[in-house]
Amino acid sequence: MKKIARTKIVATIGPSTWNDDVLKKMFDSGMRIARINASFADFAELTRVSNQIRKISPRIAIVLDTQGTKIRVKGLSKDIEVKDTLVLSSSENPNPNIIKITYPSLSEDVVVGTKIFLDDGNIQLEVKEIKEKNVICDVTQSGILKPNKTVNIPDVNLKFPLLTEKDIQDIKYAKELKFDYVCASFVRNKKDVLEVRELLKDSKIKIIAKIENRQGVENFDEILKEADAIMVARGDMGVELPLEEVPILQKQMIYKSRAVGKPVIVATQMLESMRDNRRPTRAEVSDVANAVMDGTDCLMLSAETSTGKYPVDAVAYMNRIALRTEKVMRLSPISGQTEAGKEVDELALTACKFSTEVNYNAVLIVSDANGVVGSVSRHRPNIPIYVVSSSFENIRENILFNGVETYYIKELSDDRDNNIRLGVEKIYASGELELLDKIAIISGSSIKNKKSDSILEIITVKDVLDS
Ligand code: PEP
Repeated sequence: MKKIARTKIVATIGPSTWNDDVLKKMFDSGMRIARINASFADFAELTRVSNQIRKISPRIAIVLDTQGTKIRVKGLSKDIEVKDTLVLSSSENPNPNIIKITYPSLSEDVVVGTKIFLDDGNIQLEVKEIKEKNVICDVTQSGILKPNKTVNIPDVNLKFPLLTEKDIQDIKYAKELKFDYVCASFVRNKKDVLEVRELLKDSKIKIIAKIENRQGVENFDEILKEADAIMVARGDMGVELPLEEVPILQKQMIYKSRAVGKPVIVATQMLESMRDNRRPTRAEVSDVANAVMDGTDCLMLSAETSTGKYPVDAVAYMNRIALRTEKVMRLSPISGQTEAGKEVDELALTACKFSTEVNYNAVLIVSDANGVVGSVSRHRPNIPIYVVSSSFENIRENILFNGVETYYIKELSDDRDNNIRLGVEKIYASGELELLDKIAIISGSSIKNKKSDSILEIITVKDVLDS
């Protein structure tokens, strides 16, 4: 059996993965979460991908990444060279020499000196003059502008609603298809997260807040409280904020997310050169290894797997790098309170601290209660964290957590001792445990109607199997 890293791999789905065989190989190489970028998908594609992924394995979490509000250049039919001066406009009928963009209140929101970035920051402008709807800019970094390219205005708090009509329809459809997670793009504050939460009511879908602009960074703490998971969306973040801020923000966000036991994903350009090459660059390998050392839960592949030439190799390399790094990496337990509550947090900390002192081989979580898995996983113990569940939804929700290996057991009931026996039997049968291995089990009480998960028990596999 191929060894799969504790750090989980999110792979973006696209034309390169449409073949079942490719997708199956990606799963076998370590992909545990499939992301669909709604910017490139309609309902037919969402349905197709959902069916394809569920056919490969019911254990792969499916994530809808909403398009969100991206300002773009509009009406350009061919590439143009941008140098010296450029006029942008939000007017409906601008002169053909003026570039139209999809942000209606451009001329009201910018001032002389505002910086505007085109094409992910490859072309840079500074506002020189504003004449009615036209914004005349000095070109401070020239380049070739292609049709439909992105426009970023980082210093302006954009007056867009968080969700476009397409986002709302896509989220509603993801609910119908029973996706597992929805990414809220360009979140600025907790209100934005709550807006998505409202749309998702009556479903089990969890929210990943994408942090990708200055407001999202400034309001990170309140966003983290409301969201279920975080994505460090380095692509837009690297345009909206100075590039050199990104590695520091990555470390801070990973640390804070870990502290409250919520999964965090590091995204974008991790193995970018593998879009065209079979091997990554040294710098990319370091980037992946460093994200693992930072303690991230998940690593994400974007174009490498959606449109790249070597999607299976990209997943395999990411898994190899993570595995090698995890072998030498030791993170200390972390303090902070999770939504599991104080009692469970204390048990989880004890279980993880003991893993070296008492020398046991795994933690087993037999619980569906909120937050227990995150409360354990955040300490990044160096032993497997097994989670058993009778629900695939639950398994897919938990798959994002670092170090968590899930087992589906249909027969779980409200009989604690029997659940533990079933769990240990299944894990032992899969070859993951030895008879004399010691495991720490966190579970609910056997006293009926007692809701909290307050038992921590250390026991050998043999004792459980003999019981
Ligand atoms: C990002 O900006 O890093 C990101 C993941 O978003 P997208 O790929 O949707 O632009």
